Amino acid sequence: MAAKKRSVSRKPAAAKPALRPHRLAADVRPTEVDVHVEVDPASGTAFSGQVIHRLRLDQRRRSLELHADDLSVAGAVVEAAGRRLSGRIVRHPERETIEVQLREAVPAGDATLTLSFRGKLRSDLRGLYAAAAGERKYAFTQLEAADARRFFPCFDEPAMKARFRLSVTTSTSNTVLSNNPVEKIEPLGRGRKTVHFRRTPPLSTYLLALAVGELAASEPVHCGETEIRVWHVPGKQKLTRFGLEAARETLTRLEAYFDLPYPYDKLDLVAAPDFEAGAMENAGAVFFRETLLLVDPETATLSEKKRAAEVICHELAHMWYGDLVTMAWWDDLWLNEAFATWMAFHVVDAWKPEWKMWNDFQHHRAAALGLDALAETHPIYVKVRTPSEATQNFDLITYEKGASVVRMIERFLGAETFRDGVRRYIRAHQESNAVAADLWSALAEASGQDVEPVVRAWIEQPGFPLLRLRRAERDGRSWLRFEQQRFLSKPGARANGSLWPVPWMGRVASGERTVSVRQLLTRRRGEIELPVRAPRFVYGNAEEGGFYRPLHDDAELVALAGALDALAPVERMGLVGHQWAAARAGQARVDAFLDLALSFGKERDPDVLVALRGPLEGCVRSAGRALGAEAEATLRARVARSFEPAFSEAGWDAVPRERDDDRLRRAALLALVGEVGEAPALLAEARERCARFLTERRSLEPNLSDGVVSLAARAGDEALFERYLAATREAKTPQDQRRFLLGLGAFREPKLVERALSLTLTDVVGTQDVALLLARLISNRAASAPAWAFWKKRFAKLRRRMPPMLVTRPIEALPALGTRAGRRDVATFFRANPVPTGARALRQTLEQFDLNLAFDQRVKRELGGWIAE
Ligand SMILES: [Zn+2]
Repeated sequence: MAAKKRSVSRKPAAAKPALRPHRLAADVRPTEVDVHVEVDPASGTAFSGQVIHRLRLDQRRRSLELHADDLSVAGAVVEAAGRRLSGRIVRHPERETIEVQLREAVPAGDATLTLSFRGKLRSDLRGLYAAAAGERKYAFTQLEAADARRFFPCFDEPAMKARFRLSVTTSTSNTVLSNNPVEKIEPLGRGRKTVHFRRTPPLSTYLLALAVGELAASEPVHCGETEIRVWHVPGKQKLTRFGLEAARETLTRLEAYFDLPYPYDKLDLVAAPDFEAGAMENAGAVFFRETLLLVDPETATLSEKKRAAEVICHELAHMWYGDLVTMAWWDDLWLNEAFATWMAFHVVDAWKPEWKMWNDFQHHRAAALGLDALAETHPIYVKVRTPSEATQNFDLITYEKGASVVRMIERFLGAETFRDGVRRYIRAHQESNAVAADLWSALAEASGQDVEPVVRAWIEQPGFPLLRLRRAERDGRSWLRFEQQRFLSKPGARANGSLWPVPWMGRVASGERTVSVRQLLTRRRGEIELPVRAPRFVYGNAEEGGFYRPLHDDAELVALAGALDALAPVERMGLVGHQWAAARAGQARVDAFLDLALSFGKERDPDVLVALRGPLEGCVRSAGRALGAEAEATLRARVARSFEPAFSEAGWDAVPRERDDDRLRRAALLALVGEVGEAPALLAEARERCARFLTERRSLEPNLSDGVVSLAARAGDEALFERYLAATREAKTPQDQRRFLLGLGAFREPKLVERALSLTLTDVVGTQDVALLLARLISNRAASAPAWAFWKKRFAKLRRRMPPMLVTRPIEALPALGTRAGRRDVATFFRANPVPTGARALRQTLEQFDLNLAFDQRVKRELGGWIAE
């Protein structure tokens, strides 16, 4: 699944406390399952059906247990050895199962279990749920991790693969989509029909898919034999071309990478009008949020296009890695997601090298490094007793840290060796299940190296190392001394005894040339001999390929600051991020960090500029809290002055045939000068540009649109608020709709903040977006306090509109409240109103609060003089 990312936009958990460890008995396994469902979302929320499980029993049994929750189940009949027995159904709600008890035992061998069931389309985007687009009503499934049991009674564990045959009775006006192609449509008269789908290959229940409602399809494109279609709410045909091309281009490359054809009979990409995650890899029928599939290449920003292509490729990578070969249990979920995340950047980068996808990845990796430096982080691998525990792990650690570790292993083994190992693994376990150890042994076979000891330290220990580096000259040779310890954000925190084998790669400059040096550092401290005598500089994480932070000494920092051009853009991004983290953790001075950050006024690479924004905004806000409004204004003006010349030179309008990098650089500079610097002239121009943009979308260089919409809202009045609201209703693309919806969260006028807040309780904001708009409001410094007051007052209502995975987003934004009293209030509120799926996010948020407060004190000491200068 592609989780919903922080910046633009993966999946969370059941809203119930962790269940008692409970697994189904391994001696009863489904082989073939026929499911019939009657559902018509236009005429009501009730659905009903019948399921026939063909079972294999390893021993005689008098009862059979399977999953079912929030369903009423009846009519249990078991047929075996020529006998037909009716069963008594006993519910076990705490295990989310039912038990079929029989008067006499069923012998070992084959048996058939028939059940009928009834349920209601849900409103929380899980199980079989209701969604709407205007007047049109839909039913969609979202079954990962463990919501298939809310759709029909089933053996809802990933290792219980079976071949499914689905049939659906509904109104003739509805399209019905599922994993496999339609076998036949049976007319029933009186406007009704039954759609029968072909039997699937072996699948885990969480990968089943059903969509019912008025949907339109693109013409198919082909990848070899595979027909690919994009399905959407009628009227959005024009927005399908980009998704189709991205799917075909990435599918072709994935087939080549795995050396195995796409495993299913067709590929439908379905844009759901309301969807919890970013996207979901249902075999043969991938479901998406509209923003990640329906794209107008003319008006979309480059980041929107890249993100859509990345998510499409991520889901298609799952067709092999996840769907064809599935983890045996949820404890290996991280491997699914880490691999698909890595693979998407790898494949999209091969398709569009000019997009520099690995530079984008650095922003995600930077966020994961930030989270993983908290005491309240978790190891990538955590024991999972229940699916609801698994769902709490759909986070930056599982996806982005996981992908960073996969990338580190690929670089350590070499790309071809790594690929050969992956091919062996997929071939050996196709249509079945595997555990992480199976992958390590495939990689070991391919490489002849013992991979497991290197990998395990990274996945089983929380956190990551800080590598202190210092050069030494001895015996006419140059050496690099290293020492590692766990990096923690808390100043003065005592690191434990963790030790990581670091597949180290450094960049060493000799004259104008640089060479990379590799070594596996297995000890806590030691020395590396450098291949160059007295190098000009050494950068401690070449291409930022390792998941660790290098800490250079002062002399090296001076050498690096004088040689920024000789570093790769990702290394400059890394340098900024590592120095910022060191300053936050009290291992470097804040003023020295600002000197470094403000020396990037001539930076050409857009991603380096993007990487500066978060740290600079952090410094500015902290200065406001610690030193007062005047100091904050002075610091903002300094930021504006440092980057304004570059923005003026770039100008507002694109020149013909301008390179993507120049367009993105302009947008990054706009954020630095406008969002952080708050330069008055630029803010005024943004308001004018926004007014024109509202009437004529083509009047603005597309990459500036997010920035302009957000900047104009800051001083926006009620009339502008109304125009944004109208723009969300009339938007011609999902991205435009999202832009203006989130723009509503950027207004600062108190009355308009209140209006934006009250909209979160209305249908104006879809269920998928409520948590995102709230998070935006909490981050808006003029709205943080009223948003928190609103949250407390309307929590019962709000919570029903925030699916369990998304509720973490506003919780993560709460440190924006900034004060000690705010921290106490947040802690007190959640003690009285616990949110189980947000429990870890809350602990992390309280830790962030403390870190911010401690940082404010250091800013007071170290920045007062610097600002006054
Ligand atoms: Zn995924």
